[in-house]
Amino acid sequence: MHKRAPEPLKVLVEQLARLPGLGPKSALRAAMALLKWPESETQRFGLSIHNLRDNLHLCSRCGGLCSVDPCVICADAVRVRDILCLVAEWDSMLTLDEGGFYRGQYMILGGLLEPLEHRGSEHLEIDRLVRRLAEGEVAELVLALGATLEAENTVSFLRRLIGGRFPHVRVSRLAQGIPLGAEVKYMDRETLRQSLQYRQEL
Ligand SMILES: [Zn+2]
Repeated sequence: MHKRAPEPLKVLVEQLARLPGLGPKSALRAAMALLKWPESETQRFGLSIHNLRDNLHLCSRCGGLCSVDPCVICADAVRVRDILCLVAEWDSMLTLDEGGFYRGQYMILGGLLEPLEHRGSEHLEIDRLVRRLAEGEVAELVLALGATLEAENTVSFLRRLIGGRFPHVRVSRLAQGIPLGAEVKYMDRETLRQSLQYRQEL
């Protein structure tokens, strides 16, 4: 940004440029657009950013972001209760659920094992998963962790863990039609639907 640009604008553009998908140029365009908004709307916009953390919680059942706990998905009485789909991140859950073809429960693992980054199982929500399986309601666990190297590592780890402690729980994973390296959150609806339908038992 030009060094003689007014300070308030510079500050805003710098902040906006930190967002994914926004470089300095598009950040400046966004800031200029905001300047054209009526004051009441920019205030509402600013307030929604300000309140973001205060008004968001983690669902105690699935670990997803929500405004009420349990979240609307976990609280939905119509959903099937004996099938649990494990995803790495919350946005993968959104992608899967937007498809509308999966009507079971979800749980968010909070990432994947990354041995090269020294990210071990202590960084993941393993305890939450173990507690959930110990409730005895889940008959099948569907691993929807993607097809990356980290996902493969995590699948092997979970398979050993669950095979040892919950041998009665069937473990499956999304069908491998998923392009190698694919992340669940970026998959299109039809690919996801098919990979769920043809999921493979482990
Ligand atoms: Zn939930």
